[in-house]
Amino acid sequence: MHGSKREVCVIGAGIIGASVAFHLSRFDGVGVSIVDVGRAGAGTTDAGTGWITARNNKDPDYRAFKLEAMEEHHRLAGLFPSRPWLTARGTLQTEDTSARFDAFLDECREVGFPVEVLTAAKVNSELEPAIAFDDPAMRVAFFPREFSVAGALLAKMLVDRAIDNGAVGHFGSRVVGLERRPNARHRVAFSDGSWLDADAVVNAAGASADTISRMYGIEMPMSPQPGVGVRVKAQGNPLGRMIHTRMLTLKPETDGVLRLRSAHGWRTDIGPQEWNDDFTGGEGRSAFIGHVVEEARRLLPTAGISPIEILSGVRPIPADGLPRLGEVHSVPGYFESVTHSGAVLGPLVGRLLAEEIATGVENPALGRYRPARFPDVPPQESPAAA
Ligand SMILES: Cc1cc2nc3c(=O)[nH]c(=O)nc-3n(C[C@H](O)[C@H](O)[C@H](O)COP(=O)(O)OP(=O)(O)OC[C@H]3O[C@@H](n4cnc5c(N)ncnc54)[C@H](O)[C@@H]3O)c2cc1C
Repeated sequence: MHGSKREVCVIGAGIIGASVAFHLSRFDGVGVSIVDVGRAGAGTTDAGTGWITARNNKDPDYRAFKLEAMEEHHRLAGLFPSRPWLTARGTLQTEDTSARFDAFLDECREVGFPVEVLTAAKVNSELEPAIAFDDPAMRVAFFPREFSVAGALLAKMLVDRAIDNGAVGHFGSRVVGLERRPNARHRVAFSDGSWLDADAVVNAAGASADTISRMYGIEMPMSPQPGVGVRVKAQGNPLGRMIHTRMLTLKPETDGVLRLRSAHGWRTDIGPQEWNDDFTGGEGRSAFIGHVVEEARRLLPTAGISPIEILSGVRPIPADGLPRLGEVHSVPGYFESVTHSGAVLGPLVGRLLAEEIATGVENPALGRYRPARFPDVPPQESPAAA
């Protein structure tokens, strides 16, 4: 330990690393360094849609974990005087998103995920006056418990607050090596030849987490999945909450800015997977973006929508689809925090992992998600070898 503090280096300042770092910085006896080759939140977190839900999950334990994660977002927001990253007014989904809409609603109710069914006309009169639905009688599901976040903004606010609490940010710094040092320390080596020593290291490098784990000889099987988001300008604030239509997901992000994600093409993993006959964007990037923007204009015809940024990201998905969280016991002091649905899980995962790192006590809530479930993770070292 350096001085009286346990020094922890968090690699990656996306939503996951930012949350771990923020929660660590709240412990008196912990010194925190946050390292990123770019800036906070600028990786996959910025490309992500930021839909906060637990309804799509068929696995009851994982769904319960996500429901808890949804609650954690509200607890986290309570720690900040304002919460500009959060739009908590429920979400909408039109009937034409699914050929089995009624069965889908039943499934949501069966697992106790609240949903109300409105007509498009009612959505217009009570919630979203600017949306131009094709048919006023069309059914629209309203999920009052769901919400959305601007993930990059949340990551940045968490990092800023961690720095207020005494953490130090190292940005533009690429980690190129990890090495175990005497006294159970870790050396984090940077591409510029400098290094930083710490008592513990957290691998929160998102889709590059397998590159970091390999620095300690640990294979991390991943099923990465690319995807894009489109950020557009919109006059006024034409949308109050996230909506999923047959062609698009739209969400209000910040003042005068909306986020779009196509429900078709460019390898999305939420919404209909089959190629849709109505989709005319083709595979070319410009055609694709043009199509997505055109669809958004059709839905919000008075908003003067124009594209500002195309955000590409790679979803960091461990090979079995579940989060990979906690210490790798064969390398004491080396922790992993890698997961899909990072916008949903970031706040909860960050707190639970920070508590484990700071107190040394493992939380059974993370039991199912330990790295040790993968055969490539070396078993715990015997005390003699440590
Ligand atoms: C199109 C799309 C839509 C999505 N929609 C949703 C959604 O609606 N809801 C949801 O919950 N999730 C969604 N996701 C997934 C979600 O965005 C990710 O799970 C989440 O952003 C992962 O966060 P992260 O912090 O692990 O990764 P990142 O945000 O990528 O952060 C990792 C950081 O590590 C840094 N880094 C990597 N290697 C190094 C190195 N060697 N040295 C220094 N720094 C390094 C990177 O620069 C990066 O900033 C979506 C993803 C995509 C692509």
